[in-house]
Amino acid sequence: MKTDVLIVGSGLAGLIAGLGLDSSLDVLMICNDKKEKSDSSLAQGGISTLLHKFDYESYLQDTLKAGRFENDIEVVKTMIDNSNDLILDLIKYGVEFDFDYTREGGHSAKRILHHQDVTGKEITTKLLIELEQRKNITLFEQTAMLDLIIVDNVCLGAIILKDGIITPVYAGQVILATGGIGGLFKQSTNYTHIKGDSFAIAIKNNIELDHLDYIQIHPTLLYSKDKGRNFLISESIRGEGAVIVDKDGNQFVDSLLPRDIVTKAIKDKMVEQNTDHVYLDVSNIPYEKMIEHFPNIYQTCLERGIDPYKDRIPIMPGQHYLMGGIKASVKGQTSIRNLYAIGETAGTGVHGKNRLASNSLLESGVFAKLCAKHINENKQDPREIGVDLSPYENISEYQEANRKTVLDYLKNKNKEFYNEWLL
Ligand SMILES: Cc1cc2nc3c(=O)[nH]c(=O)nc-3n(C[C@H](O)[C@H](O)[C@H](O)COP(=O)(O)OP(=O)(O)OC[C@H]3O[C@@H](n4cnc5c(N)ncnc54)[C@H](O)[C@@H]3O)c2cc1C
Repeated sequence: MKTDVLIVGSGLAGLIAGLGLDSSLDVLMICNDKKEKSDSSLAQGGISTLLHKFDYESYLQDTLKAGRFENDIEVVKTMIDNSNDLILDLIKYGVEFDFDYTREGGHSAKRILHHQDVTGKEITTKLLIELEQRKNITLFEQTAMLDLIIVDNVCLGAIILKDGIITPVYAGQVILATGGIGGLFKQSTNYTHIKGDSFAIAIKNNIELDHLDYIQIHPTLLYSKDKGRNFLISESIRGEGAVIVDKDGNQFVDSLLPRDIVTKAIKDKMVEQNTDHVYLDVSNIPYEKMIEHFPNIYQTCLERGIDPYKDRIPIMPGQHYLMGGIKASVKGQTSIRNLYAIGETAGTGVHGKNRLASNSLLESGVFAKLCAKHINENKQDPREIGVDLSPYENISEYQEANRKTVLDYLKNKNKEFYNEWLL
């Protein structure tokens, strides 16, 4: 197969990049599950935006403070400067927002746009409809990238697995938009098929990384020890008044502090009270507000036998987000020519050591758009070379080795932490 641009991933980053590419470019998008099954589609709380120019400094400072001031300030500014353009694009693509700006942990103002508590689903559904109209874009579902084809520091394409067949795809440019790493963790809000494949490939090919070990643990997953993805109880519910309490119903932490601080307070409390969860008390939120703003969370609790107004919601911390990733510029450029990384896969320095709530959808969209613009201005023709496919013959062994590559890398960085959280 041959294409001008190969996009790996159908989340917000992949979709915005695809929609931003010139219609003259032949684009192939692949995803390793159904196209709707991206972490972007699960986003509940919303997407941050610059509400007003008077909020600029405050938004900047909130992002830096959450990131422990390890953020790249120029990258943060680029994200904020381009936020309203992205929102206008989303509205143009048919996304409907509720326009009653909300607030989440670490934000000092209400600046988050949302669609009830299913913002990601609303956005990705509308973008996928738009994508279907584009004649230059072909989408293959259930198709996995196994490896990249890199020669002399230039990316020439990828090896993919489609319908049981392993084949090279030669591409002028390749965009990695494969999301994060949650599938490697015991408890995570992420889909299990989003498991850091790009990072295994990057480690093996010496592609420069940026803080792959900066991983966010979210304080409020719905308590469950079942295997598979954990349901998230969005932080925005705390923005509207819910508070975290211990087993006796006592509040022990300011529920709106950044995620890492709240997580630590919960872990300390669990040790002190010898339990594996704490609770969320939503009694401060009027019932009508709950139904209108958080129908998904409310309904999911009821389905799990929890009535949020009679019982408190049991919660526990778990993996949620990767701040680091493949080192990339705001245009997605990596250390390999013609290889781009965007969205959660990219480590741009925008989040520093800890991501501010609702900055991820924004980051994914803004930098994906800049990446598409850069590619439009720097088109490359695909080039075919011979590729040895024998390393991929035993596919499960190959994929297990990739998984182990990332696990070992992380455990080497911080054994104690990763022994606790990784699978
Ligand atoms: C439950 C939940 C709630 C969230 N809420 C919010 C929120 O309210 N606001 C906010 O800003 N952020 C939120 N986030 C984070 C945000 O949704 C994601 O970080 C962001 O959308 C990442 O987008 P992405 O396009 O980079 O990757 P994703 O949306 O994760 O998409 C990754 C894509 O890559 C594909 N893929 C992966 N590996 C391969 C492979 N080897 N071959 C082929 N395809 C592959 C996947 O199938 C998928 O299509 C939330 C995340 C979760 C999990």
